[in-house]
Amino acid sequence: MTYAEVIGDPIGHSKSPLIHGFWLNALGIAAEYRKTHVTPDGLADYFAARRADPDWRGCNITIPHKEASLGFVEDPGDVRGSIGAINLAFVTADGALVGTNTDAAGFYAPISGMDMAGRPVAVVGAGGAARAVLFALARVGVGPVTLLNRNPLKAAALLASFGLKGEALKLDAPLPPVDLLVNASSLGMVGQPPLAIDLGSLPEEAVVYDLVYAPLETPLLAAARARDLETVDGLEMLIGQAALAFELLFGAEPPRDRDPELRALLTA
Ligand code: NAP
Repeated sequence: MTYAEVIGDPIGHSKSPLIHGFWLNALGIAAEYRKTHVTPDGLADYFAARRADPDWRGCNITIPHKEASLGFVEDPGDVRGSIGAINLAFVTADGALVGTNTDAAGFYAPISGMDMAGRPVAVVGAGGAARAVLFALARVGVGPVTLLNRNPLKAAALLASFGLKGEALKLDAPLPPVDLLVNASSLGMVGQPPLAIDLGSLPEEAVVYDLVYAPLETPLLAAARARDLETVDGLEMLIGQAALAFELLFGAEPPRDRDPELRALLTA
């Protein structure tokens, strides 16, 4: 049977099989979506074996393989030179194995209605998710970007690499009055300290977007709601990036009108 999968180390926590399985079932597609534990040492053998399997449609790629996997795929969109990491490898109709990154578009979809050109934004974090966020924000020409990270030097280099104007600050710096605040760090995740940031400077129409989805209601989102600010939670991006991957893997559009049911499953 045709199949795709998600690979990572560890992989037990991945929600991708639930999401793709839900859509495959909803559309009645006879295919499977699995999760497969692949260690860094096993990555080359993994790709070699799967390339020889005609039933394999491709794989989502999670930590720690998002950069190393670039070495095993074609990269027509130059993801290596932009985001620098892939979250999907898929087999095309002519048999090529292509790498891409659906995180940036998945992040952007819920806020695509906002006119962000020239508007000030703040992003917390400078890891892989932050790279996808900054790539998307640079594409829509946002105004100055305040990038907060425990290591501001790393953040400054990241801003420069995306050609973004703004400044890199430490996590405890006061937040400027931005229209969009994005948490792309691990802070607020289960087992991590919360992101302690004072939202007092944000204007009433500001949007607070937390990429963390476990828990879904992070202390950051709770603080934003307490101030009546609009919020976007991490499941929106998780489902959005998966939807783009699903189309590339299985050639069908997922039934997004069933998102409420899917969200209920993911939070059960
Ligand atoms: P990553 O590459 O490991 O980056 C983690 C970032 O968080 C880094 O900037 C790191 O700071 C910072 N950080 C980690 N622990 C910290 C601490 N104790 N104090 C201060 N800063 C800390 O991870 P990632 O892939 O970017 O993921 C980041 C978050 O986004 C995770 O919660 C992940 O679940 C979430 N995410 C969500 C989606 C979605 O679809 N919703 C997609 C991707 C990621 P340094 O730069 O100083 O190391």
